[in-house]
Amino acid sequence: MQKVRMLNLERQYVSLRDEINAAIEKVLANQHFILGPEVAALETEVANYCQVGHAVGVASGTDALLLALKAAGVGPGDEVIVPAFTFVATADTVSLLGATPVFADIDPVTYTMDVNGLEKLVTPATKAIIAVHLYGQAADIFAIAKFARAHNLVFLGDTAQALGATYAGDPVCSFGDFGCLSFFPSKNLGAYGDGGMIVTKDAEQAAFLRMARAHGSAKKYRSEFLGWNSRLDEIQAAILRVKLPHLDRWNQQRRECAALYREALQEIDEIVLPVTAEGRSHVFHQFTIRVPNRDAVQAALKDMGVETAVHYPVPLHLQPMYQYLGYEKGSLPEAEKAVAEVVSLPIYPDLLPEEIAYVGEALKQVMAKPEMRSRSLATQAG
Ligand SMILES: *Cc1c(COP(=O)(O)O)cnc(C)c1O
Repeated sequence: MQKVRMLNLERQYVSLRDEINAAIEKVLANQHFILGPEVAALETEVANYCQVGHAVGVASGTDALLLALKAAGVGPGDEVIVPAFTFVATADTVSLLGATPVFADIDPVTYTMDVNGLEKLVTPATKAIIAVHLYGQAADIFAIAKFARAHNLVFLGDTAQALGATYAGDPVCSFGDFGCLSFFPSKNLGAYGDGGMIVTKDAEQAAFLRMARAHGSAKKYRSEFLGWNSRLDEIQAAILRVKLPHLDRWNQQRRECAALYREALQEIDEIVLPVTAEGRSHVFHQFTIRVPNRDAVQAALKDMGVETAVHYPVPLHLQPMYQYLGYEKGSLPEAEKAVAEVVSLPIYPDLLPEEIAYVGEALKQVMAKPEMRSRSLATQAG
């Protein structure tokens, strides 16, 4: 039996080993480990890549959201609109600042925030909105930006999964007041540890963020406000500088993988394939399909050696930690339907066409079983 893993980062490392090892050794030789020349250079390179003026390296994508929300002025008593179907960091960072996330349902086709339901979520306490460019595809940015302007909200982009994607021809990370990037190893541009970055066109906000990541201080041992210790390592920055020039090619390879999947799976009626919306380019951080009987399909694929993952199995409004907010089951129906039906297939730039073909064949066999094609009662009821 063949095995297809969800992700194999070793293949990428092998292809860049000499350059990466040399970059790490350079940092070791310099003995400058925190906020040195590599971080500064990477900040300039990412700012240019995102076509914004400023980039500020931080310890993780989660911290990028946390510090950007702080720069947006979010604090106790404020509300921030976030999609219910995303990684938990999009919302828990709001809560960590003492504010309340207000959950929006999703558009079932793109899995990004449904802009039609936003008006009814606004209250006098609404301060900001976070658009998540989920799976590598932009949310409906123009509509969200218009909504944010109309209600005087700060517009943040959670670009953790979509670095390199475009919307109306411009980089997704260039939109909004802040773009929040993650360099978690599995992301499209991944470090060999944690890392993140905030991009912004606003020089004053960038200066604030540089202080916020270093105990509120611009000058050593002088703290102007309550900040964090959230810094990007020199070694991680050096590794990311080797990888960044390859990102567009890697994203193209991901799109080619997606095209092969599409070809292999299109004749299976019960599978809903990902849709790239008009005017957006997709960087396929995930290739996520919908199937009627998801858990059974996932188990059957596992038996055939195919690893898959569910992004995400619990909508945020029904997470135990948000029980206190009082959301009822059924209150955000599209997010709740998605968590029951989605499954992500292996995708990364070095995934081989043979492996995609094997996954396609496996899915064809699995979906040929009558019990896989009918919606289970549980799914129907949900
Ligand atoms: C990965 C991710 C984050 C958090 O990034 P970390 O670097 O893991 O802290 C936030 N939002 C989304 C949508 C993500 O995928």
